[in-house]
Amino acid sequence: LSARPYNFSAGPAAIPAEVLSQAAAEMLDWHGSGMSVMEMSHRGKEFDSIHNQALADLRELLAVPANFRILFMQGGGLAENAIVPLNLAGRTSGVGQGGGVMDYVVTGSWSQKSAKEARRYGEVRVAASGETEGFTRVPDPAGWQLSAKASYVHLCSNETIHGVEYHQLPDLKALGSDAPLVVDFSSHAASRPVDWSRVGLAYGGAQKNLGPAGLTLVIVREDLLGHALPVCPSAFNYQTVAENNSMFNTPPTYAIYIAGLVFQWLKKQGGIQAVEARNIAKARLLYDFIDGSQLYVNKVAKDNRSRMNVPFFLRDEARNTAFLDGAKAAGLLQLKGHKSVGGMRASIYNAMPLKGVQALVDYMRDFEKTQA
Ligand code: PMP
Repeated sequence: LSARPYNFSAGPAAIPAEVLSQAAAEMLDWHGSGMSVMEMSHRGKEFDSIHNQALADLRELLAVPANFRILFMQGGGLAENAIVPLNLAGRTSGVGQGGGVMDYVVTGSWSQKSAKEARRYGEVRVAASGETEGFTRVPDPAGWQLSAKASYVHLCSNETIHGVEYHQLPDLKALGSDAPLVVDFSSHAASRPVDWSRVGLAYGGAQKNLGPAGLTLVIVREDLLGHALPVCPSAFNYQTVAENNSMFNTPPTYAIYIAGLVFQWLKKQGGIQAVEARNIAKARLLYDFIDGSQLYVNKVAKDNRSRMNVPFFLRDEARNTAFLDGAKAAGLLQLKGHKSVGGMRASIYNAMPLKGVQALVDYMRDFEKTQA
């Protein structure tokens, strides 16, 4: 296991080797059932136990309050960009009315896409945007233009491409809004605790920090169920999904199983607080090195730097290919930046050990020296 390279992919991303080994050992015969998890009925007692264990472990890990429901859906973050307004756009204007006002805070590519998609379902108002500053910081919540009677306020708490993270969620009530906060936490779910008193709904694709692609996690406060527009597909109606315990349609059973193994692994790591402390240490190691180097640069404001996705650029872009080739040879995979921004990106999710970040820093230092 220790011989595996370090994988810095932004997603689908590294999964703890212990989890993959356990899944391999259980592949043909899960717990003496004679079946692979892939072959089980989602309504049988075997999968029922896998599902319930995953729900209970996640609730414990993230300290999800009793008045929130945990839903296992499909479609990823991009589908949620439509599913959220399909369920909530009519919250203040009344079920069936549509046309509600929705506030969006734009801090990078992902929240920009969210706002664009929501325009199909009502009036989107951009409460604040970091675009003029090149998405290098989160606009100060004190300056957000929040609407009276908004159906919800949406933000992306970790921008995977621009590497911008809210280290604290805004307190909308203190900002004069009584709308629920909707959070896309796709790329840092389970990397730190969540202050649920500030959240109405959080969603994310599993393929970065929770498990394989195909599973979408939605955690929603109960009073936000039951507001869907009539055109909302039944399989995407949060109330219908909640009433059927995520079994209205066949859920992504194998992805739920792997995510469940990841949740057990997180518990063995000491839980979310312990994992967060490790994530802080990993991020500090990498950012401190970048800030101290002559070759590498990260432009994000220090207070808003993502602990999960670290984009960086070589001051001499002509050396990008040599950097990536050398990294691969050194067992450091998938460091190429997103095509929309270029450069490099190291995604250092929960499954990346400190040793992996140290190996990256060592490589970056050597590369800088040899090419000077
Ligand atoms: N939101 C964020 C923050 C993301 O990082 C991504 C994927 N990179 C998405 C949404 C889109 O997710 P999906 O591809 O699962 O639809």
